[in-house]
Amino acid sequence: MALRVFQRFITKRPLKASKPFCGILSAKPHKVIVLKNGTERESVCLMSGFSKKHGRPASAISSDGEDTQCAPTWNTYLYQLQQQAPKPICIPCDYEVPSRPPQYGKEYHGSLSRQDVDRLLREGDGCYLVRKSERAPDAFTLAIRFNNETRNYKLYYDGKHYVGEKRFDTIHDLVADGLIHFYIELRAADYIKTLSQESNYEESPYMAYNMKRKRMGKSGKGDTSISSAQTSSAADTVDKSAPTLSITDYEKPHIFKVQNFIGLHFCDFCANFMWGLLAQGVKCQDCGIEAHKKCSEKLPNDCAPDMKYIKRIFGADLTTVVKAQKSLIPIVVEKCVKEIELRGIDMAGIYRLAGFHDDIEAVRMAFDKDVENADISANKYEDINTICSALKLYFRLLPIPLITCEVYKKLIEIVKRGDLSVDEQVAMMKEPLSSLPPAHFHTFKFMCAHLGRVVDHKAKNMMPAENLAIVFAPTLMRSDDPDPMAGLVSAKFEQRVMELIIANHTKLFGK
Ligand SMILES: [Zn+2]
Ligand SMILES: [Zn+2]
Repeated sequence: MALRVFQRFITKRPLKASKPFCGILSAKPHKVIVLKNGTERESVCLMSGFSKKHGRPASAISSDGEDTQCAPTWNTYLYQLQQQAPKPICIPCDYEVPSRPPQYGKEYHGSLSRQDVDRLLREGDGCYLVRKSERAPDAFTLAIRFNNETRNYKLYYDGKHYVGEKRFDTIHDLVADGLIHFYIELRAADYIKTLSQESNYEESPYMAYNMKRKRMGKSGKGDTSISSAQTSSAADTVDKSAPTLSITDYEKPHIFKVQNFIGLHFCDFCANFMWGLLAQGVKCQDCGIEAHKKCSEKLPNDCAPDMKYIKRIFGADLTTVVKAQKSLIPIVVEKCVKEIELRGIDMAGIYRLAGFHDDIEAVRMAFDKDVENADISANKYEDINTICSALKLYFRLLPIPLITCEVYKKLIEIVKRGDLSVDEQVAMMKEPLSSLPPAHFHTFKFMCAHLGRVVDHKAKNMMPAENLAIVFAPTLMRSDDPDPMAGLVSAKFEQRVMELIIANHTKLFGK
């Protein structure tokens, strides 16, 4: 939650609050939590009008599925400790120091003995200064007073100041962050250690939010469930539809990156404050979940991506995209195939001929900008080859190929076996194909059915399965073998795999 919003919570009744207000200053604590060491800590509710971010409604779903007031409750204990932490006090040098490095100001004292440092910092916790290192000629030491002792750190500068991994614009910020960490570690070491262990994911703020989102999805635009009506139920085909599988249930890991949060943020896993001034925690690049680094390690692979975090469609992970779009297959694929079948299926050399580069780029940009409303009609792109090329580009740019590297290996092994008949090879392909991640499986199945229809028109378009396989093998599958020679050798096997799958797609996937 941004600082501005937070301040509104603690200073006055929020403008849009519809539930009884319970800010930090005025609230009675909702509950008192007894810590392991026997001390009591208040947990107060900050959630009056809106939650900390995304403008989520404050009311969320409790574990029994009912809307509850003021849940999830962000725990402010660590925030209060951060507020109490000593503030940095620069001890300025009151005389001109010769050859002062340009990155330092008044806090730089040149050479000082340890006794002098202790004397200068005697004013109390938070006092700090920078001195020349006693041991190394071009090194500097940051001395900070905390808990009645002086702590010394080797200080570095590369355009930013740092003693560890975090980089700061000013020494003041570096010291402020250090003091927060010293103070919280001193006062709440045991508490911090147990943050992630003692939190229950089922009752985390993230789950509360996700359940609500899922419920809204089901009643609204809809989370597309894959029913047996949509996928074949023929007994001898690869069928991933039973029991009904929901796209939101596809496994997908979170993609966490260390985040410098601006303002006050709370962990979506343990509901505690994320302390410090920089790198307070991590944030998932796909769904926006924020957590302490330790807490993030406990999250299962249930990332529910949100389109607002996905900056572009081309080059984004397939599972991420279908989960965010709540569609069985990516909208890009669906729209391109529909357009190609509408006006290109009889065209000689369809998929073999390339469109104009600039037009392909324009299609790609249109999809990246607004996939649902992208116009790829004949009015806009007269040449259907442009759409075909854009579709192929989409598959080529997938970070994990449509036929994943693990499945690729198994399929190649099958077509290499000279002791098997074609029918036996096709039968053997069912197992590896069924192990594709669900989003990949359904998209591949959709593409094979489409390519089958293209083949049906081969008398006009001159594109039998063999020709389509030459075009699509390098687009839909790739090896993770870094040796370029291995790729050359594999090319003919890749084409054979594609040709067999296209020619036998009804045997493999049903109609
Ligand atoms: Zn995520
Ligand atoms: Zn946490």
